[in-house]
Amino acid sequence: MNASPKLVRVTEQGVDWAKVRADFPTLKRTVHGKPLVYLDNANTAQKPHQVIEAVDDFYRNHNANVSRAVHQLGEEATALYEGARDKLAAFLGANHRDEIVLTSGTTMATNLVAYSYLLPRLKPGDAVLVTAMEHHADIVPWQLVCKLTGAHLKVAPITESGELIVDEFVAALTPEVKFAGVAHVSNVLGTVNPVKELARECRKRGIPLLVDGSQAAPHLPLNVKAIGCDFYVVTGHKMCGPTGTGALWARRELLESMPPFFGGGEMIRTVSFEGTTFADSPHRFEAGTPNTAGFAGLGVAIDYLSGIGMANIAAREHALLAYATPRLEAIPGLRIFGKVPDKAAVISFLIDGVHAHDLATLLDQEGVAVRSGHHCAHPLMQFYGVSGTCRASLAFYNTEAEIDALVTAIGRVRKLLA
Ligand code: PMP
Repeated sequence: MNASPKLVRVTEQGVDWAKVRADFPTLKRTVHGKPLVYLDNANTAQKPHQVIEAVDDFYRNHNANVSRAVHQLGEEATALYEGARDKLAAFLGANHRDEIVLTSGTTMATNLVAYSYLLPRLKPGDAVLVTAMEHHADIVPWQLVCKLTGAHLKVAPITESGELIVDEFVAALTPEVKFAGVAHVSNVLGTVNPVKELARECRKRGIPLLVDGSQAAPHLPLNVKAIGCDFYVVTGHKMCGPTGTGALWARRELLESMPPFFGGGEMIRTVSFEGTTFADSPHRFEAGTPNTAGFAGLGVAIDYLSGIGMANIAAREHALLAYATPRLEAIPGLRIFGKVPDKAAVISFLIDGVHAHDLATLLDQEGVAVRSGHHCAHPLMQFYGVSGTCRASLAFYNTEAEIDALVTAIGRVRKLLA
């Protein structure tokens, strides 16, 4: 069985970031004849070779379906899959492994909560509260179940600098609100929301709170118990893990109260044509053959991040953000969206008179990968009155030299377009 990577990247002197970077094969390639400068980490993170090898090892040596075979390979595949559940439980600070439902990502996790938890509970006139900075994955599932039940969405506003107005969020927690969803970290602004405080206010009023941890789990030390929320969702591909992996953490009593969302194999106790009884949670929510190879990889990705230490990762990314921000701000005509102090290392920006897609396309010619567009946050774009932004999002394996390359490339593009 593939052992978790030996983590030799942290010494008494601290983390050897050059060695860490060398673990990522993609970062060694060139694009359009230039060294790749990958600054699209909020979109998806690159994978260390240990994760790639774990997926390869699964298919070479352990490939079998989970929980369906008593043979050796079946046991090994199941151990890798269930091992990811244990690692996620520890990484998120859950009370118990059974509080973790393995999903294909955050989107699947929010939809599971929408249809299994919320749909049976919403009535006409009820409301779901979100914030103005949510990703579509934390808006559209609630909207769909609101439409089915006659409930509606309420939106807590933000300031121009991208900060949630907490007093207004709290004031919006009126009796018709039956559920609230909030991003831990905004994928566009980098804002880190005060989720502990929001959870406390929701709890006082008996309103369940889902925290979208997609952009927090790869960057911050986490503990769902300390946050005090009811649901927490993460997506593996942003955590240096494979695509098609993720998780829902939920309080055990909530999961136990939820009916299945998908039906099929793996989630039942008995089936007859007269009726079916279901497995206990979390297996009740994991119908069908899962992405076992992906979860084998995600387990290793979690070991990798934990081996470096989430506090070290957060500190390194803060240093990179502190290096990048003034250098970008010094570029004439460049406007940054999201200016809250202590934000995560996400920099959304526009340059006067330049379309975000044109800028990103020209930066790509320089080898610099940034994302452009609405970042799955249409309402936030509407708030700022723009159709999209460019976004440079940093990870712990980026370097100051890469930020210099971004700044130089933007300078070249500005001259080209002048
Ligand atoms: N929420 C946030 C804040 C995100 O940044 C993303 C990914 N861009 C998602 C949800 C959705 O994640 P996935 O597509 O992996 O389900």
